[in-house]
Amino acid sequence: MNFYILTLFPEMVRQALSASIIGRAEENGFLHIDAVNIRDYTKDKHQKVDDYPYGGGAGMVMQAQPIYDAYHALTEKIGRRPRTVYLTPQGHTFTQDLAKEMSLEEDLIFLCGHYEGVDERALEEIVTDYVSIGDYVLTGGELAAMVMVDAVSRMVPGVLTNEASGSMESFEGNLLEYPQYTRPFVWNGKEAPKVLLSGNHQKIEAWRREQSILRTKRYRPDLLKKADLTIREKAVYGVNDKKGV
Ligand code: SAM
Repeated sequence: MNFYILTLFPEMVRQALSASIIGRAEENGFLHIDAVNIRDYTKDKHQKVDDYPYGGGAGMVMQAQPIYDAYHALTEKIGRRPRTVYLTPQGHTFTQDLAKEMSLEEDLIFLCGHYEGVDERALEEIVTDYVSIGDYVLTGGELAAMVMVDAVSRMVPGVLTNEASGSMESFEGNLLEYPQYTRPFVWNGKEAPKVLLSGNHQKIEAWRREQSILRTKRYRPDLLKKADLTIREKAVYGVNDKKGV
């Protein structure tokens, strides 16, 4: 899968995405990540890419021309116009479901805004999806793009060495994942749950399922309302279909 990130800070993106699992997946050819410097496309002799907002007000606005030209050069190179995400606090909130959906794309373009944002006319020309990573305002779209690239990449076959770990995690079936333990068995006076060492897979699965439900009930009751629970589980854990939890 190919990710193209239109940004004023390509080094920031390249550095962060070249480490760990994502970096290894790129080395192994499962992903390709390209950070395109919008500034390379400015026609301004001082390399300017922003200007004062029409109508006044604080801050600067990224101009349409360098963004559109960077996008145009990129789509010419790709040979088509892929799904293009503008990272913005005004977009739909990013979710695991959207990460999964986007992992089916061959190419994805991300546009990172900065300062007060981007001239609306550039957005109208190129953007297919407006996505926010949460209800707060960042200084730029780079961190948000990196969050999305990371979450989408994990869903691409081959990126995670253990294929199962991408499909049994938090948000699967609207439940949070059960707690995890590793050696030593006793740490700081606390034992790991004995059932996990029992070798009895049925019991381990039942324990994990119960923990997932209890955890979701405690931390994300909003999710539990949408979770895939049996009638028995709903009765045992006090989940009411009409009023929620
Ligand atoms: N003036 C804009 C507004 O009030 O909607 C906010 C601009 S913000 C300071 C600069 C850039 O950061 C945005 O153009 C966007 O690309 C990015 N950004 C900020 N918060 C974000 C969020 N929650 N999710 C995704 N991108 C965000």
